[in-house]
Parts: sequence; structure tokens; C-alpha cells
Amino acid sequence: MRYLILSDIHANWPALEAVLTHAAGAYDTILCCGDLVGYGPDPNRVVEWARESVSVAVRGNHDKACTGSEDLEWFNPVARAAAEWTMNVLTPANAEYLRNLPKGPVQTAGFQILHGSPLDEDEYLINTVDVAQLAGYIESRVSFFGHTHIQGGFLCHRNGVKRIGRVPADHDEMGLDLEPDVLYLINPGSVGQPRDLDPRAAYAVFLPEHNAVIYRRTPYDIASVQNRIRQNGLPDLLAQRLSVGQ
Ligand code: ZN
Repeated sequence: MRYLILSDIHANWPALEAVLTHAAGAYDTILCCGDLVGYGPDPNRVVEWARESVSVAVRGNHDKACTGSEDLEWFNPVARAAAEWTMNVLTPANAEYLRNLPKGPVQTAGFQILHGSPLDEDEYLINTVDVAQLAGYIESRVSFFGHTHIQGGFLCHRNGVKRIGRVPADHDEMGLDLEPDVLYLINPGSVGQPRDLDPRAAYAVFLPEHNAVIYRRTPYDIASVQNRIRQNGLPDLLAQRLSVGQ
């Protein structure tokens, strides 16, 4: 089985469409590490696609916020404005789907998917010290997570924790061979709002039979999403950041 691993789509339909085109033929089933909505202008379109196409998804903090399952006081003003806008436009059926997404980690076929950290779906795994403290609690050899919007992740070896890089700017993919006796926390990167200074949509393909993960990036029509963000009166910052991937 070949898995397409997506995270942090954030209602960015053109980015998602570009990823699906770029990945066509390379996967059998789709998993999502959370944040289908929030920030972007196409929440219904993305959720309708997820309802039909994603086999397993966990909820992200924005999925909770946009369905009223979380107090918006924790959000910054820009994220809160986008969550309120999203809440108003989501159809009842799409809101219901988001509300019913499970909390991660969810175990699937020998590995797990989660949003933030294995212990707390809202926590950001940013540095090797955070991960070293968690290593004893990780139940799967391979875990996929999101939330930081930074492609790469970490590997936990007997000798410590190491960061995994992202696809170089002049390439569109980077392979990672999985070794025995190493724990992997893999971040596929964000489809719809990358924050690792590469504006291209990010994703990963997991090939368990080959013990390999392939990180990928694809360009998409950023200007069209920016126009729709502005037309819908969403905060302009959400349009601007897409150009720089930050
Ligand atoms: Zn997110």
C-alpha cells in the first residue's frame, strides 16, 4: 500500500488540486494529519473532497475552532477572524464531518497519524529538545504529524534526536530511507500554508513496503487563492504570507 500523507490544507483548494495532480499515480490511499480548514477561502470544497477521498484523518486545532469545539480566545486575531468566517460559511454537513474527526494519534496499519504531538494534539513539535522528551511515549516506529507547517520532522536514534530537512528549493522531491531501530516523526509539510520559507505546496508519500518516505513540493496558482482570500474579506496577511511561505 502506498500512502499519500497530507496535512494543514487550510481550505486552500488550488494548492490541494496541484498536490493531487503532482501525486497522481504515486499512491493508493490518502491520510490527513489535520487542519483541513481555517485561513483559506475554500473550506466547503476541501471538506467535500475529504469526505469522499480521505480514508483516515485526525482533527487539527483549526478544525475544532471552526466548528465551535474550541474557545477562540486562544487564537491570534487573524486566525480568529478566519475561524469565525469559516464557521459562518461551512455547510451543516461539512461542519458535522469536521466535528466528528477523531483526536490523534490514530493507529493505522502499523504506523500512526496525529496533528501536534503524540501527547497533545495542540502542542508544536519544533525542536529536538521537545522531541527528546517525548521519545519514551511514542508508540509507533513511524508517526506522521503536522501543525508546524514545516516539512521534515525528526528521527530518534539511540544516540539522540536529529532533525530531518525539507526538499531543497531546486528539487521537487527528497527520499528518506527508514532504518530499523530508529523512531521517525515525519512532517509532510503544509499543503495550503507552508511556513518553511518555500511557498510551494508540501506533502509526502509513504511506502512501507520499501521502508521509504518521499517528501515532495509542487508549485500552484498562489495568485488565485490570494484573490479569493481578498474577495471574501479574510485578513490580507493570510494572502501575503502565501507568497513567501511564512
Ligand atoms: Zn495548521
